[in-house]
This record gives sequence, C-alpha cells and structure tokens, in this order.
Amino acid sequence: MLQDTFRHQGLRRQLVVQLKEKGIDNELVIESIGKVPRHLFMDNAFLEYAYQDKAFPIACGQTISQPYTVAYQTQLLDPKKGEKVLEIGTGSGYQTAVLAEMGAKVFSIERHKPLHEGTRKLLDSLNYVSVKTFYGDGFKGLPAFAPFDKIIVTCGAEMIPMNLVEQLKPGGMMIIPVGPLAEQTMTIVLKKSNGETEVIEMDKFRFVPMLSDKAR
Ligand code: SAH
Repeated sequence: MLQDTFRHQGLRRQLVVQLKEKGIDNELVIESIGKVPRHLFMDNAFLEYAYQDKAFPIACGQTISQPYTVAYQTQLLDPKKGEKVLEIGTGSGYQTAVLAEMGAKVFSIERHKPLHEGTRKLLDSLNYVSVKTFYGDGFKGLPAFAPFDKIIVTCGAEMIPMNLVEQLKPGGMMIIPVGPLAEQTMTIVLKKSNGETEVIEMDKFRFVPMLSDKAR
C-alpha cells in the first residue's frame, strides 16, 4: 500500500531541482525533502500531483503546504539534530516528517481530530514513531513540554501569539506567517538571551488560518 516506486523517486528528484532553482540552498533541507515520500501524505486522487510544487487540499478543508513553502520555512528554522521543535498545524504531517528527517525532536499540534488521528497512523506506518503528536489548540502551545528550541507555525496567524513566545528557550526562534486572511508575511521571531524579542519580516505567503480551540 505505502509504495515509494522509482517513478515517485524520480519525480521527487525533479522537485528537489526546482526547489534549488527557487533559492533553497540548505543541503540538509534539500536532502530531507528528497527523502520524504510526499505522495503518501495526500489523497490518492492527487497522487499524480504530489511532486508538483503546489499546495493541495487534504481532509477537513485544510491543505498540505506547497513544497517550496515547507522548504522555505524549514530553511529559516534550520533545526539542528536533537533540537526540540514545536509545530503548530500537523495537517498532513508532511512538514512534520521533513523536520523529523532533519533530526529534530518534533512535537506537533493539530486542532482537527480526524487529521490528528489519520496523520498519527501514517507517521507510525512510515516509522516516524518518535514524533509526538497532539490533538489540541496550538494557541496554547504545550506548556508541559516547554521550553522549545524552536517553533514553526504552519497556519496564518493574525498576530504573534505571546503564549508561544513564552514557550521558547532564550536564544530560541519561531517562524510564523503573520497577517490577515488574504496574505501573511513570513516572520522570524528571535527570543534573545535576555528574553527580549526581535521580529524580522520576510516574504509573503498565503496559509489557511490559525483558528482558536479544537474544531468541533
Ligand atoms: N504542515 C501542514 C500544514 C497543514 S495546513 C502540512 O504540510 O500538511 C495548517 C494546519 O493548521 C491545518 O491542518 C489546521 O487545521 C491547523 N491549525 C489551524 N489552527 C490551529 C491551531 N490553533 N492549533 C493547531 N492546529 C491548527
């Protein structure tokens, strides 16, 4: 069932070439994208599109992020082996798997129960067993597991959630798309060793919204 054929691998190599052409130059990010079988994170109906550089619909009206967006956020986050990374918005689990391939200790929260449950099964079957997934509200973070070296938010937030900044280690970093529904600015939030924050704004993207509470 969970097949990764030569055809898939060939398509994935072409995707990696495209990402390099678009400016992704972190070798570890490129390697990780090259390893994760993105087609297995999508509905069968979209199999042939899995290695196009496009976002696609998944369950619960959500999307699997565009590979370029995943590579871009991961490159900014630059997770090192063994770092504790909190992800908000597990969704398909694709970004989660890329972070795990980079050697991060991943904690990921999703507010849609069917997505949380389906993705947990998939991650287990692909042997990403050390990734910890949670059904809950990302705005709350995971106080019981804080502090984190890094936080990555994969949905668009209207403002920087201070709750999440609090769960960062001093010297830590959060990558978060911030802005209204129509368009968000990819934002780097650096938490300095004295606890002060520095905010750096990068390029524009369009994400599904970060919404409060678990979905009912
Ligand atoms: N990284 C995912 C992106 C999925 S889209 C992937 O590549 O597939 C963003 C996800 O964020 C959606 O699944 C959405 O349900 C989730 N989300 C939105 N607001 C959230 C919140 N407050 N807490 C947890 N997850 C949230």
